[in-house]
Amino acid sequence: MKPAPFAYHRPTTLDEALATLAADPHAKVLAGGQSLVPLLSMRLARPSALVDLNGLPGLDTIEVSEAGVRVGALARHAEVLASAEVRRSQPLVSLALGHVAHATIRNRGTTVGSLVHADAAAEMPVVLTLLGGSVEAASVRGRRTIAAADLFLGPLESSLAPDEIALSAFFPALPAGAGVAFEEIARRHGDYALCGVAALADGESVRAGFVSVSDVPTVVDLTGVPAGERGEAALAQLDPQGDIHATATYRSELVRVLTERVVQSAMESRQARSPEDS
Ligand code: FAD
Repeated sequence: MKPAPFAYHRPTTLDEALATLAADPHAKVLAGGQSLVPLLSMRLARPSALVDLNGLPGLDTIEVSEAGVRVGALARHAEVLASAEVRRSQPLVSLALGHVAHATIRNRGTTVGSLVHADAAAEMPVVLTLLGGSVEAASVRGRRTIAAADLFLGPLESSLAPDEIALSAFFPALPAGAGVAFEEIARRHGDYALCGVAALADGESVRAGFVSVSDVPTVVDLTGVPAGERGEAALAQLDPQGDIHATATYRSELVRVLTERVVQSAMESRQARSPEDS
């Protein structure tokens, strides 16, 4: 199938892009196109116009500071994954990105686009939520910071307004002495996960985030829960559903097994992480 007709804009300044979006409530932002173009081709999305961000200067940045990692709207998954500085500051970002799609898709798809797309089967929304990160958005009305906890409203639904552009995402650095881990099960490498788990162990605090298990990224507090009981404790706070990819029973079993394994590995990496890594 071919997309329904749409106008195409390729602005060269942010102001022009924001004004174009403000003038047409049915226009959509185009970043890497790896999720939007398939939706257009299947006619599941029929925007009146596309506002292509790829001509805008200064959005392809990856900035690493003591506070964490700021990824610009045009930084590709592959560039973020390749950054040794990112891996040092917040290893969970790199661990999870290694599971995002295939290399060709990572070369074009953007990490910020993945967050705005708000797919609960995607890795990065869960990572942002678990780490307590945020997204910086702009519109003709001004700029605002949206905390991860307020970003994901439902399946493929973020709290970004139709006329807003997400300029960057911020992933807080891993605190000294903390540990992280990520693992997922997919039918083939590069497929969306049937179930994925990210874990953050920081001092006594232990939390885990789940991919493909609920409609929005969900984080469960497992502080104080002993090994062997973590999978069941996580499951008690989740309600995995069945779909064409996996039954609810199988997905629940993946939650049990992966939670135990990933939390254990985050706790071990906490001990293994040397002070120079932080
Ligand atoms: P686009 O496709 O350009 O846009 C996606 C949506 O976000 C659109 O609604 C667009 O309007 C909006 N948008 C994008 N950027 C902005 C912005 N800066 N401001 C405002 N709105 C914006 N992803 C995974 O996480 N895990 C996977 O395993 C995975 N597997 C994949 C397998 C295949 C075969 C394909 C085709 C894709 C897969 N993806 C997967 C999706 C991929 O990660 C996309 O790159 C990502 O979801 C969207 O990024 P994008 O830059 O391509 O966004």
